[in-house]
Amino acid sequence: MTHDWKAIDAAVRVEPGEKSKLKERDTVCDHLFADRDAAEAALKDCAKAINDLQDRLWAERSRSLLVVLQGIDTSGKDGTVRGVFNQCGPLGVSVTAFGKPTEEELAHDYLWRVHAAVPKKGMIGVFNRSHYEDVLVVKVRGLAPSETIEQRYAQINAFEKHLSENGVVILKFMLHISKDEQRERLQERLDRPEKNWKFNAGDLEDRKLWDEYQSAYETLLDRCSTAHAPWRVIPADKKWRRNAMIAAIVHGTLADMAPTYPRVSWKPTDFTVV
Ligand code: ADP
Repeated sequence: MTHDWKAIDAAVRVEPGEKSKLKERDTVCDHLFADRDAAEAALKDCAKAINDLQDRLWAERSRSLLVVLQGIDTSGKDGTVRGVFNQCGPLGVSVTAFGKPTEEELAHDYLWRVHAAVPKKGMIGVFNRSHYEDVLVVKVRGLAPSETIEQRYAQINAFEKHLSENGVVILKFMLHISKDEQRERLQERLDRPEKNWKFNAGDLEDRKLWDEYQSAYETLLDRCSTAHAPWRVIPADKKWRRNAMIAAIVHGTLADMAPTYPRVSWKPTDFTVV
């Protein structure tokens, strides 16, 4: 790999205990992966390498990787899944989209459905939205009392610590786009017939609450970026740069985990296939 993933990571990571300063964070960041062709080549290499490492992770069967994708409507959560994990076979990656909770889910605590979807040992699991909706939409739309929401930041940190102490490596990405970029993407959904199906009038209602959502994001970044599960704020106005950055960090993390094929206790020469 020609890129320095640690430098990319350092540029987008929210350091635990520090303020995220979301308003000051760039949504373009054209000094990182400045060249589009190079970014696309890096993405391709990383996607293939992620698949190879996942194979080892599965053979090792002792740890898993959880990738949490959060972002405002049109920020590119689906596109990230397609772009970064397209080389992985369906056996090794599970993708879970969290929508409005069902009646059954609401009858449990809010982490119940999330815990059930955490990838088992050997798997990469991707969350398209997550338990963070319970301090985002739930907060902005007033779906729970503010005291209840207030308690959740510490509960989420404890939950993620529990997972990380039990073999789950957690990567959390906020896909950060500008309000202008969202306008263009929503307009495109109206202008292009093949994208009409993606348009949801409810997204316009959420757009009116842009500032409230940004503020809710800032709070969770400030309070839930921890040593065991730090947040990364990914500049996401350019889809190719977003994918290249996320792929670089996912690949770098998996490479650091260094999963290895288990050694067998017998000698292959002891057997003959007839
Ligand atoms: P997406 O917009 O991600 O493509 P959907 O159109 O199914 O997918 O939208 C999912 C919706 O579910 C979003 O509006 C999101 O805010 C909502 N949602 C997710 N989790 C919760 C939750 N815990 N409580 C209420 N609403 C939620």
